[in-house]
Amino acid sequence: MNERASVLNGGVSYVRPSATSPWGTFIAQVERAAPFLGPLSYLTETLRWPKRVLIVDVPIEMDDGSIGHFEGYRVQHNLSRGPGKGGVRFHPAVTLEEVMALAGWMTVKNAAINLPFGGAKGGVRIDPKALSSKELERVTRRYTSEIGPIIGPQKDIPAPDVNTDAQIMAWMMDTYDMNTGLASTGVVTGKPVHLGGSLGRVKATGRGVFVVGCAAMRRLAMPVEGARVAIQGFGNVGSVAADLFAGAGARIVAIQDSGGAIANANGLSIAELAAHRHREGGVSGFPGGETIEREAFWDIPCDVLIPAALEGQLTAARAARTTARLVLEGANGPTVPEADDILASRGITVAPDVICNAGGVTVSYFEWVQDFASYFWTEDEINDRLARIVLDAFEHVWEMAAKRNVPLRTAAFILACERILKAHAERGLYP
Ligand code: GLU
Repeated sequence: MNERASVLNGGVSYVRPSATSPWGTFIAQVERAAPFLGPLSYLTETLRWPKRVLIVDVPIEMDDGSIGHFEGYRVQHNLSRGPGKGGVRFHPAVTLEEVMALAGWMTVKNAAINLPFGGAKGGVRIDPKALSSKELERVTRRYTSEIGPIIGPQKDIPAPDVNTDAQIMAWMMDTYDMNTGLASTGVVTGKPVHLGGSLGRVKATGRGVFVVGCAAMRRLAMPVEGARVAIQGFGNVGSVAADLFAGAGARIVAIQDSGGAIANANGLSIAELAAHRHREGGVSGFPGGETIEREAFWDIPCDVLIPAALEGQLTAARAARTTARLVLEGANGPTVPEADDILASRGITVAPDVICNAGGVTVSYFEWVQDFASYFWTEDEINDRLARIVLDAFEHVWEMAAKRNVPLRTAAFILACERILKAHAERGLYP
């Protein structure tokens, strides 16, 4: 196989990645693993070319009678190992380049954890906070109809991501079922439990961050009890990780969200903070901590740093400043490649997103399996299996990193790319 040379190092010509942009970051991460792939390394070129990119117009009637147009995407990055799998994000900054990178990270994540899925991701460029519930439902249903031809339980299975939740998954499933005449619960995961969802799915990503975090801390001989933890993001991932770490005796010393940042060297009360966020819409002004400048979050003395918001947050400058010994990537793609190098040179361990935040898609896999079987497991069974799967993957990656003398991210990419490219080679090219 003699695959075409890349354009601008990012493969395809329809985006222009930079060294710190999401697709540029993903490609750099693939490139770092490529030299370790032996006879498969010539196939890494395929990872620069998403299999399928769909851009859709999502027009809806707004509550005031006007028509709003929103841009939506679904990218299937690679389907060699199974149907596409990955969330749908609603955010005002969503771009095609970002969704491509997020789909690429899903390909690698699903392979690193060894789930029988390829990688996909979707997004709509909207500010969901500016929409009414009815408008949000219309956006969700029209977007689902537009991507309908390429999704399905055995084609591509969406799930929640930033600003999407179980209600949005219920609307997506219902729309798909109305359009196809099927009653297929397995078309999306992260659904409400009484509609074929799985127990434990809502907290699964944050739980996975905690489980991987504890395993990494064991390896680094860092006690969890008393550890100082700083978290960027207090959404579905950050708030659950905060709660579990606090419950294990760690001190949550700072939290930053999109509206501000707060700190308390003695540890923030997570239950009180969650109530405050529920009332006020953000962590700002929480009386149980000191309000600090958002940028000052990165200077707060801590042992563990958990970026659990958006990609590209851990820049080179912030990597040079952090006092953490361990970074747990709750978000997808939070660390740019130059920051990775700085962290490595400072002896700071990074538990990479493709392992650290894989608890969510792992329980999505359980949900999909339960839907096919129409037989549902207990929450304890789910949490036990989740812990076993992510810990097993983490230990494999840790051993690979030691054997190859590379950071954990590169080790995870080596393991994952071996699986993806082996599947690609065995399938061969059609025609
Ligand atoms: N959005 C989550 C992620 O980035 C979960 C995806 C899924 O469950 O399919 O991993």
